[in-house]
Amino acid sequence: MHGKVLLIDPIATNRIVLRVKLAASHYHMTQAASIADAMQVLSQDLPDLILCATDLPDGDPLRLLRRMRKTGLTGKVPVIALSGCDDDSERLRLLAGGVDDVMQKPINDALLLARTRSIIRAYATASEWTLREGTSRALGFAEAADAFAPSQTVRIIARDPAAAEPWSSALANRISARITYAKPATAVDDIEPGSPPDALVLVVGPHEGTQMLQLLATVRSQASTRHCAILGVIGPEDMTLGAQMLDMGANDLIRHTRSADELAVRLDALLRRKRVTDALRDTVRSGIEAAVIDPLTGLHNRRYAMPHLTRIADRATRTGKPYAVMVADMDHFKRINDTYGHAAGDAVLIETARRLRENLRAVDLVARIGGEEFLIVLPGAGLSDARKAAKRMCRIIETTAFDVPGQTAPITVTMSIGMTVVDPGRGAKSSDAHTPQALLDRADKALYGAKAEGRNRVTLSRPAA
Ligand code: GH3
Ligand code: MG
Ligand code: MG
Repeated sequence: MHGKVLLIDPIATNRIVLRVKLAASHYHMTQAASIADAMQVLSQDLPDLILCATDLPDGDPLRLLRRMRKTGLTGKVPVIALSGCDDDSERLRLLAGGVDDVMQKPINDALLLARTRSIIRAYATASEWTLREGTSRALGFAEAADAFAPSQTVRIIARDPAAAEPWSSALANRISARITYAKPATAVDDIEPGSPPDALVLVVGPHEGTQMLQLLATVRSQASTRHCAILGVIGPEDMTLGAQMLDMGANDLIRHTRSADELAVRLDALLRRKRVTDALRDTVRSGIEAAVIDPLTGLHNRRYAMPHLTRIADRATRTGKPYAVMVADMDHFKRINDTYGHAAGDAVLIETARRLRENLRAVDLVARIGGEEFLIVLPGAGLSDARKAAKRMCRIIETTAFDVPGQTAPITVTMSIGMTVVDPGRGAKSSDAHTPQALLDRADKALYGAKAEGRNRVTLSRPAA
């Protein structure tokens, strides 16, 4: 079952026709002939979508929304109004009043089904983020998303500036977002990964459908633009194209012939919804980040490092490639704190983390697993490579003294490393000896040796039997 749809229409034949169409696409249908009926159904079982005719005996879709608001249901179930008259101001009134879409009777089947899929998907995503945000917050990882509304940008994409112009100048007076223009061929090329537009308006001219569908696929597949809201502007005859666009991830559609006010209202709703999901996503992400990142150095913490080490170990077993596990510990760190103060100690830890990160590959793991202790894992490194890398780590700490705020002279610091190498190609077998904890214990034991032998050196543990 793809979802539950409540159909509200006073005319029985209309309900039957739509029910047959949607049931054929595996939606579970419930029906009502009036708002009063519908409220009865809603009190028992929440659908994923409501399709609501505009000519009900006891009101219109906005009245339904008001009743739903009273019971706390608005925002939870999307509503599509099915309108019998093609009237700009009526459509605008419904959209501005909060329905998610207004579709014109006679309803185009392909478009209705695509719209149903797209709206149900969008609401499911939004409620998923709400749920995760709630979980993050319950775990104490996240603050509630604040109401701060950053300014948003809209990019109009059309064949040439002349085709974009009517839409951009109409929008300029109607919405507060900044508006830019791009051609389809270069629409995503100059987008900075960190600051994609919030919404893209794809103005599809005659014979431009294929190109716009390709662009849509690109936008949805790239990490930097994946979350952009997309609104398609299509010709009145382009129903099939519209359905394809919705299925490929467009969030809304409008016909060329519609008013600029309608575009503004639709875009405004998209931008508002995007702001909410963005904030939720950020909260969840920063919550997850807070859980696995060490706030002092920005390195991963032990909570992240141990399962990651397990994954590296599992992959090495599969591929037969070696890997090295090191524990690096600052020498006489207590003395540094005692001599220069705790803040100076902190600055040394931050700079050490930076040097380690900078001198390792992206695939290597560096984590802060204790006060002045780091775990370093080098996937693919055999004994000789690992030893070289470890010695390099010691050298980059020892040879350049640390500039610390508040100290006139740089501080000399050293670090010791205990290391163990697992080489499946050389007979090491996956066993209890290769659990992350066992590997860490071995590296730790080797570290103990490095300290005993005078510090500022690398010591290797003997391979496990
Ligand atoms: P060794 O060479 O044997 O490792 O000597 P050590 O002094 O480094 O070892 P010990 O374990 O005795 O002391 C570790 C010190 O690291 C003690 C603690 O105050 C300091 N330390 C741990 N975490 C932090 C931190 O976040 N900031 C600062 N400034 N110091 C820290
Ligand atoms: Mg130490
Ligand atoms: Mg220590």
